[in-house]
Amino acid sequence: MSDLKRRTFFKLGLFGAAISLVKPSKAVEIISDASTKKFVIAPKKIVISTWNHGIAANRAAWEVLSSKGTALDAVEKGVKITESDMSNRSVGGGGRPDRSGHVTLDACIMDEKSRCGAVAYLEGIKHPISVARGVMDRTQHVMLVGDGARDFALDYEYEKIKTPIKEVKKDWKKWKKENKELFKKPEINHENHDTIGMLALDAFGNLSGACTTSGWAYKMPGRVGDSPIIGAGLFIDNEVGAACATGMGEAIIRIAGSHTVVELMRQGKSPEEACKLAVERIIAKHDDLTNLQCGFIALDKYGNYGGYSVYKGFNYALKTENRDEMVDAKYNRSWE
Ligand code: ASP
Repeated sequence: MSDLKRRTFFKLGLFGAAISLVKPSKAVEIISDASTKKFVIAPKKIVISTWNHGIAANRAAWEVLSSKGTALDAVEKGVKITESDMSNRSVGGGGRPDRSGHVTLDACIMDEKSRCGAVAYLEGIKHPISVARGVMDRTQHVMLVGDGARDFALDYEYEKIKTPIKEVKKDWKKWKKENKELFKKPEINHENHDTIGMLALDAFGNLSGACTTSGWAYKMPGRVGDSPIIGAGLFIDNEVGAACATGMGEAIIRIAGSHTVVELMRQGKSPEEACKLAVERIIAKHDDLTNLQCGFIALDKYGNYGGYSVYKGFNYALKTENRDEMVDAKYNRSWE
């Protein structure tokens, strides 16, 4: 992309003081640029991410954004916080295993140029999101899975981790004893999930996103959900907006969820409305909605954001210059 095309700061010179008296539009903020001592109009920086673990992750992402870093670096750094948290049972090395006791991790990342990278079914590596970025930056491919992803990670010396961790192994053994019948049928266990999906808009007006998970607890060996699939768990189009998903990956994949949300925004829907319509499409495509929780969050190129879920209870973390809080997403129905 040419420098001209790049939405960078507009330097205002003498207009600065006058313009700073005018209420800025939703899309921009007026800040004083420390290096030039001039007022500049910058797109509003913002980070949103799924669930409560998003608060800490957003703060790490914000550090990058506020030092004029890129949205891409921000989302990678942000979700690495969650991946490093060994008390988290649904993301990274502290995550729960599949039925056979293997913790298999899924992640993807996408930037403003529609470059993307993903890993799935990756075992024993601490930061799957960085490996996903490595696939994007260092190969001509988009996705590596299983042993191939692991070999790639080891070749480039991404940090290893031994999984499952002790407490998780203990829980898994207990679960196995109590759920013998589940081994005979491919049923989804609904106890534990909660991917982190993060979307950011940087001071240059660029969008990026990241998504990382250990997937559904006690999933069938080999199962991969929506989270590492570009278009399902995450999608970015810098001309329009960004979206990511959490919840039952199978349902999200069926409607190419995050891509659908972005396309709805392209047609003029607000981020929340786009998420709502995607959720309604999931509902329309499934006869049985028992336990079928799915949620989307979305961010448009102007920094407007929103979220929506099938059932009550989905929330997301929001970080802006003035806000650092959880937002309850609107929803289609309450749990009975
Ligand atoms: N979407 C994830 C998966 O299906 C799980 C979740 O976010 O709840 O693996």
